[in-house]
Amino acid sequence: MHTVLADFIRETPAGQEAREIIGKCVHCGFCTATCPTYQLLGDELDGPRGRIYLIKHALESGECAAPTRVHLDRCLTCRSCETTCPSGVRYGRLLEIGREVVEEKAPRHFLERTVRWLLRQMMLGPLFAPMLGAARTVRAILPHILARQVPPRRPTGDRPASRHPRQVLMLEGCVQPAMDPAINAAACRVLDRIGLSVKNVPGTGCCGALSLHLGASEEARQAMRRNIDAWWPHVEAGIEAIVMTASGCGVTVREYAELLADDEQYAEKARQISKLTRDIAEVIYDGEHGPLQAPAGIRVAFHSPCTLQHGQAIRGKVEAVLRAAGAELVPVADSHLCCGAAGTYSLLQPALSEQLLGNKLGHLQQHKPQVIVSANIGCLVHLAGEATVPVRHWIELIDPSPPG
Ligand code: SF4
Ligand code: SF4
Repeated sequence: MHTVLADFIRETPAGQEAREIIGKCVHCGFCTATCPTYQLLGDELDGPRGRIYLIKHALESGECAAPTRVHLDRCLTCRSCETTCPSGVRYGRLLEIGREVVEEKAPRHFLERTVRWLLRQMMLGPLFAPMLGAARTVRAILPHILARQVPPRRPTGDRPASRHPRQVLMLEGCVQPAMDPAINAAACRVLDRIGLSVKNVPGTGCCGALSLHLGASEEARQAMRRNIDAWWPHVEAGIEAIVMTASGCGVTVREYAELLADDEQYAEKARQISKLTRDIAEVIYDGEHGPLQAPAGIRVAFHSPCTLQHGQAIRGKVEAVLRAAGAELVPVADSHLCCGAAGTYSLLQPALSEQLLGNKLGHLQQHKPQVIVSANIGCLVHLAGEATVPVRHWIELIDPSPPG
């Protein structure tokens, strides 16, 4: 598609990147068929091709109205369309640029801005853990819609002491340590079992995804710089990898290079950090995972998060590791479709999110698994809220010393 950018963005790096991305789209519409929001709503403007047109119009005219924002808000950022696209259109990156422009050109109503600000403060601030703790104590009397966002506390077990010469870093994340600390503890034990010690690095926090998806891009970049500063001495000391146990964080940290490309001070560091970033599935799949065992013959349904299969194009590795460990994976229909969690999407677009969740659980539970596993905290909490079987991070199935 030929694009003539408006003055306000023509000479900027974001404008040039957007023009290059839009230029690759040949309007074929293949992506529409695999877009969850198009499938639910049947409106071209709620599919990737329509959204590309909307962003193109905003960048060419310098104008956009509230309906454009509504269609972009309904996008899950699942990037299923990118996997389908035969022309290599980087829709996710275009959406980030488009959303930034739309936030500026069609400002939200005060109330909407306040809700988004509150969400960021609540989830990223120091009060998240105490608030979650308080919610846990009254969980039994909370309305179901709220109670299902509050996962019960589980035993975590101990983290092994650092004993291997091979060392990695691991992003603890923002909400995951409070929501479900058992995941990272299990990940440390599994990594230890295959000869890798996890170095504890204070001073990291959210990867930046939460702010980015809520339209606070500068706040997101600040979070990225903070993480880079904390990791950098260890990168220089030669750590092997920065391991992600949440695929939603992994996809973002992999994009630090792109997102900080214009930052003179951080561009090169960001590039190296992105290069070192690996999902835990890749680390284990490529490592000596022979000694890892799952409970014998356990029937498992795996939900591959969009951020794993589409965002990072990691497909088949979790399944291969679990099968090698002795688990039986049941078939899951429409496994390319989003579960509706999508960061804060389940809170901001509850009706669409509910429909996607219902469809997803129908497919995951169809063949009577004993457990559903996934690879991202958002999906795990979202699925667990309504599932009729336990929902766990897949790494916990191969934990050599699961807590009692
Ligand atoms: S990211 Fe997902 S919801 Fe958004 S346009 Fe692409 S396929 Fe549709
Ligand atoms: S599949 Fe790719 S090229 Fe075709 S309309 Fe969608 S984004 Fe454009």
